[in-house]
Amino acid sequence: MTAPPHEPTPSIALPAAARPAQLIGRALLLRCPACGTPGILRNWLTLRARCPGCALTLDRGTPGHFVGAYLVNLIIAELLFAVGLMAWLLAAWPDVPWDLVERVAVFAMLIAPLVLYPFTRTVWLAADLIFDPQRPGDR
Ligand SMILES: [Zn+2]
Repeated sequence: MTAPPHEPTPSIALPAAARPAQLIGRALLLRCPACGTPGILRNWLTLRARCPGCALTLDRGTPGHFVGAYLVNLIIAELLFAVGLMAWLLAAWPDVPWDLVERVAVFAMLIAPLVLYPFTRTVWLAADLIFDPQRPGDR
């Protein structure tokens, strides 16, 4: 006996509302979004080819998979910069130390993408798993 075609498949164990939050939460902890295993980073700038816990292919086997991660990294770094700069300017107004603002802003613009990079890669992987669930070739 088979289920009618309009019913959801039982392969997704978690409720739809909880699963994306769990995937993103694991990614923000730099763990595998699929299973929660730590150690998916080879170093700060490189992911391992596969998750050591569940063998998920971390680039999902598609060329250019992490171009989206670069875009997310840039957007988040720029947003944090803009919010931080506005907060600083509003707090210091009208006696803004412009020389210091210039030096700190340049430093922040250079360092923020590097600090955020592994988080944006894992979050991008989680987002990809949310919108394009695991396929047989992912492991
Ligand atoms: Zn895993």
